[in-house]
Amino acid sequence: MPAWICATCANHYPEQDSAPAQCVICADERQWVPASGQRWTTLAELAAAGHRSDIRQVEPGLLGIGADPPVAIGQRALLVQTADGNLLWDPSGFVDDSAIAAVEDAGGLRWVTASHPHFYGSMVEWSHAFDAEILLPQADAQWLTRPDGNVRTWSGALSVLPGVTLIQCGGHFPGSAVVHWAAGADGNGALLSGDTIFVTPGEERVTFVWSAPNRLPLPETAVRRVVEAVRPYRFDRIYGGWWQPVLRENARDILETSADRYVQFLRGEVPVD
Ligand SMILES: [Zn+2]
Ligand SMILES: [Zn+2]
Repeated sequence: MPAWICATCANHYPEQDSAPAQCVICADERQWVPASGQRWTTLAELAAAGHRSDIRQVEPGLLGIGADPPVAIGQRALLVQTADGNLLWDPSGFVDDSAIAAVEDAGGLRWVTASHPHFYGSMVEWSHAFDAEILLPQADAQWLTRPDGNVRTWSGALSVLPGVTLIQCGGHFPGSAVVHWAAGADGNGALLSGDTIFVTPGEERVTFVWSAPNRLPLPETAVRRVVEAVRPYRFDRIYGGWWQPVLRENARDILETSADRYVQFLRGEVPVD
């Protein structure tokens, strides 16, 4: 019996004979169901269709694991490597033996987690491969579509390892989170943000979304909460959910100015005609 995978968001569902009726992630207003109807796939079917793991060293201590061609929303995972253990972030819905081998070579896996439910992907598959703990914000734990006994919930902030902290920012989902990685960006600090903080194509600003595909914004209070949640931390770089774009430097200042600009639009303080 396969674990069923939603073809649109790549979230995994329990192993059972037939596919579920609908994907609860895609039926939610933040996502979408294809006009032609819900579609399902499996890891075996994705591999047979030619998907392979795409593994790249992103910077020292940070390994990227995506799929080529990308699957569904197309996020690539990031493996934060430390002497005390490794944390996998935002796993793609696709995983194969070469991805598992790459993480083994990098020192294995102690924790797997994600920025928000759209990117829970193959989290349970990774947990089973390494007996790794699944860290989920309490506020979003009900969105894990393949329930598992290895889950530990957290709220607010969680120091996972020295220099590696999960920070609940809310916004896109109540439990939307980022990783603060103090050793990132040559020791200047980096945030791994998925789309909790959304890096835009020019790599010189960020934005905030309640729904990316349906182009729905966040209210001012939520934008301010995201900025305040990360303000105590030192960082110069923000990695979004994909290989590109990356906000490579000055990220702390850019986050503040981007939030101020966003709020000006929300308040109608920007002339548009
Ligand atoms: Zn889905
Ligand atoms: Zn999302």
